[in-house]
Order: sequence, then C-alpha cells, then structure tokens
Amino acid sequence: MMETMDIPVIRVKRSRLAEIDFDHLPFGKFFSDHMLEADYADGEWKLASIKPYQVISFEPSIMALHYGQAIFEGVKAYRNKNGEAFIFRPFDNLRRFNISAERMEMPSIPEDIFIEGMRQLVGLDREWIPAKEDYSLYIRPVMFATDTSLGVKASSNYKFLILLSPTGPYYSAPMKIYVEEKYTRASPGGVGFAKNAGNYGASLKATAEAKNQGYDQVLWTDAFEHKWLQEVGTMNVFFVFGNTVVTPSLDEGTILAGVTRDSVITVLRDQGITVEERRINIEEVVGANRSGKLTEIFGSGTAATISYIKELKYHDYTMTFDTSSFSLAPAVKKILTEMREGKRPDPRGWLVKV
Ligand SMILES: *Cc1c(COP(=O)(O)O)cnc(C)c1O
Repeated sequence: MMETMDIPVIRVKRSRLAEIDFDHLPFGKFFSDHMLEADYADGEWKLASIKPYQVISFEPSIMALHYGQAIFEGVKAYRNKNGEAFIFRPFDNLRRFNISAERMEMPSIPEDIFIEGMRQLVGLDREWIPAKEDYSLYIRPVMFATDTSLGVKASSNYKFLILLSPTGPYYSAPMKIYVEEKYTRASPGGVGFAKNAGNYGASLKATAEAKNQGYDQVLWTDAFEHKWLQEVGTMNVFFVFGNTVVTPSLDEGTILAGVTRDSVITVLRDQGITVEERRINIEEVVGANRSGKLTEIFGSGTAATISYIKELKYHDYTMTFDTSSFSLAPAVKKILTEMREGKRPDPRGWLVKV
C-alpha cells in the first residue's frame, strides 16, 4: 500500500445537505458540498486540493471545447448499515481512465490523486452517501484539456476533477431496442474502448431516432457489415442461450470494457455458468430466438447495474421476452447487490473502504 498523503481541504462554510430531498434524486442532478481539483502543467500534476463545489471559469479558447480532449469515469460509493462507506472497484476505473488518457494523448493520473483523492473526498462528504438500500453516491472523475490555443495538437495543460452526486435507486424499466444499421459507435482503430466525452455526443442522434420510433436504445453493430454486435446504448450486452452466456469480446477495441461487465462475467463463472467472450452476430441471435434457445438479453453498467431487454428488433423480425421469467440476470443482480450491502463475502476485494 502506498503512503497516504493528506490532500489540503477548504471546507464549505455551510453544508447544502439539508436542502437536498433524498427521496427524489434524479441521476446526476445534485452535487455534494466538495469536489477534488488537480491541475497538470509543466509536465507534472500539481498538488491536488479538495474545495467547495463551485463554478470554475475558463477562457473561451480552452482546447477541450474545440477539439474534444476530455475523458471521464463513473464509479459508485455505498454506505452499509453500520455507516461504513465503500467504493466499488475504483482501481479498475483508475486503470481504464489511464487507458482512455493514453488513447487521447493525455497524461495519466497517479493513484495518489485518483484513488486517495477519491477516498478523502468521499470520506469528507460521507453524509452525502444515501444510506438507503439501492441508493448510492455516484462518483464522476473527469479530465480535460485547458491550453488556451486554437492549434490542433495535444494540450500541455489539463484539469482533473472529481464530483460526487447522490443517486436514488436507478430503476431502469425493461428496454425496447433495435439493431442499429445506419450509425456506428466504434470501429477498429478508433476510440470505442475509451471513455472519452466525444463518444457520447456522437451517439445522441442514434438514440434520438430510436426514441422517435418508440424504442429506448439501439444495439450497436460493427461499422462494415452492421451485423457484429457491440453494446446496447452505453451498456455492455449479454445474451443467454440456455446455460451459456455470450458477450462480445474486447479484442477489436470497439467495446468499452465495463467494470460491471467484468463483475457479471466473474459472478456468472463463480456460479458455474459458461461465459463466452467472443464475436457474436445478429444472425446467430435471430437463429437462437427462432429455435427457442435465446432466453434472456440484458445490459450492464455502473448506473443501473443490470437492465433487462424486453424487445429486440432486427429488420422486420421482432423478438420479445417476458422479463419477469428471466432467471440469470436477476440472480447476478442480487449477488452484486448483496455483496455491496455486506450480506455476502467479497472474495476479490472489490469493495474499497473509504
Ligand atoms: C461506461 C460505459 C459502460 C459501462 O461500464 P461500467 O464500468 O460497467 O460502468 C459500457 N459501455 C459504454 C459505452 C460506457 O461508456
């Protein structure tokens, strides 16, 4: 374990905690009293600090706005019945953040800022972690380019922030989706494996068209044949064929390596279920549906953990699922929830104490 360094803290004069209605917490709308801030300049990270959540001002020429050097993460903290606070798998988010940084020609962030800073910030604002079942504190690390220049090049200056947002139980209704064949989210050699801001801006039109047609999301496919399945919206996707579960492999760099995806695969394998990480195309899914082998489809991600899919459309073929008869997806969800609540052992040290 590294030496713990103390990050300087400027506390709020008056907490806003009492102003928040913890019974109504739309995702990502409210922010806690404090945030962490660190700046990169002259080739190194300067001393990080924790300060009141506040407006920050910039010159209009900062490069992140023009050329999109911006990456983020999504992590969650929980509080158990004894009031102890835990962060779920933050080291995996640190690893992925630095993979995104490398792809976007940005500096990597050290553990003492990302992990220690997160722990100290969450510790300071621990009262903001809703103690209720299924509630959590969403943690948003973000880094962006701050050079004030219009030349297209990698910035020399960056800002790193960690924001905290209390969230209620993220109920995600079973989703209606279709196979996307017009727009592309990611292609080999691109940035699909990175959590860079531009990927999300680029996906909004496809989602809007899906909504217009009465769907919730799209199932992304490869850029060449629009057949090989990638992800559902901003979640990883799993197909259950009887006792075998299949999820698209990460090899081509077109899929975001979800921490929840990894948790789901691990929990399934612990239960003796076969999980195949491989290429999977829509014809195989349609064939399995026709023969009755396809029993469940679900998505995974930090916000909702697991979202069931009740309808999948490909051309004029529509597959429908009675999600109340799903068994694997709810079982995995239950195991992950009980682990977080301390009702089940955590053999891999996924819960990091604050
Ligand atoms: C963040 C994200 C996921 C889910 O990753 P988790 O680590 O499980 O939250 C999946 N797909 C995309 C495109 C994402 O941005």
